[in-house]
Amino acid sequence: MAIDYTTIKTPAYLYDLGLLQQTLNFVKKEADAFDYHVHYALKANNNPKILELISEKGFGADCVSGNEVEEALKRGFKKEEIAFAGVGKTDDEINFALENDIFSFNCESLPEIEVINELAFKKQKIAPLALRINPNVDANTHKYITTGLDENKFGISLWELESILDRMKAMKNVQLKGLHFHIGSQITDLDTFKNLCNRINQIQEQFYARQIIVEHINVGGGLGINYHQPDEEPMSNFKSYFKIFNDFLELRPMQQLHFELGRSIVGQMGSLLSKVIYVKKASAKSFLIIDAAMTDLIRPSLYQAFHKIENLSSNGEDQEKYDVVGPVCESSDIFAKSVTLPSSKRGDYILIRSAGAYGQVMASNYNMRDNAQVVFIG
Ligand SMILES: *Cc1c(COP(=O)(O)O)cnc(C)c1O
Repeated sequence: MAIDYTTIKTPAYLYDLGLLQQTLNFVKKEADAFDYHVHYALKANNNPKILELISEKGFGADCVSGNEVEEALKRGFKKEEIAFAGVGKTDDEINFALENDIFSFNCESLPEIEVINELAFKKQKIAPLALRINPNVDANTHKYITTGLDENKFGISLWELESILDRMKAMKNVQLKGLHFHIGSQITDLDTFKNLCNRINQIQEQFYARQIIVEHINVGGGLGINYHQPDEEPMSNFKSYFKIFNDFLELRPMQQLHFELGRSIVGQMGSLLSKVIYVKKASAKSFLIIDAAMTDLIRPSLYQAFHKIENLSSNGEDQEKYDVVGPVCESSDIFAKSVTLPSSKRGDYILIRSAGAYGQVMASNYNMRDNAQVVFIG
């Protein structure tokens, strides 16, 4: 990295806009080849500059709150390319989205559909709906980021689909436009998406039997990134990913295919820069206490996520094992246990890689800590 990090106040999120552009170009090229529509999932990283770069490239937006819908509009995403998902949309959020004529309400339950119908009636509008169906496909990822199993709170189960479609017949202010699926995040085994395609094919048959052909299928996001080797694989394999859907998903004539990618677009372009405050020797191990914490990047504490950690200040002649930890008063404020690093000392710069997605957006001020600043590079 051709940047003088010693001038940067730590902790800091470094965002490599060059890599972001490269990734966006790659996604765009591969998606355009099949005429697929890609929405960016704002929740992965909502930095204004990043959002503007993504909307400029012509991506749609995937939002999970009213504020995200508002931010997407503000950052240049087109209203007719905004999808709005989430199990608990409030009346205010629904009204805001109705007023802005978004592309799709991705609905997760019958009570929600009833409320949208009622609120749309009051506004004399017809709300475009996609049913978020829980396809009961295992994403083979961490349980906290698995969303497509019967036990998860997300989506409409297959057993209630028929009764919901019956109920919707009487609703005049909603229109079924699409089917939506999102089975989980950080999915690295592409066969998982093959399973999703097969399941969607079966579900489409069920709709076809009722003479329903929806305008669009939305397969959500979830494509993983390589946390272990970010330099070897700075971009996910979008080519193979889209090809799986082309090969295995049976679209009806004129049916559009939509994607909602978050992590795979912004994950690798971000790193968290930090400095060693103390090296603490305990009887059995050594701790590197750094000035970044779970308040900056909670993924390791929340779901034992792996991030590659590097010491930028050491030439790496001698190696040692460390538990890399933050200063917060929680035992879970750990970035990595027993990681081998060059012998490190107070003042060394530490880089935590692949932190562009679900990093800064989950920051808190616990312990009254300041938030990391943002520095754009590349
Ligand atoms: C979080 C989310 C996404 C994005 O998931 P990634 O794993 O970051 O690609 C897409 N769709 C919905 C509905 C989501 O909640």
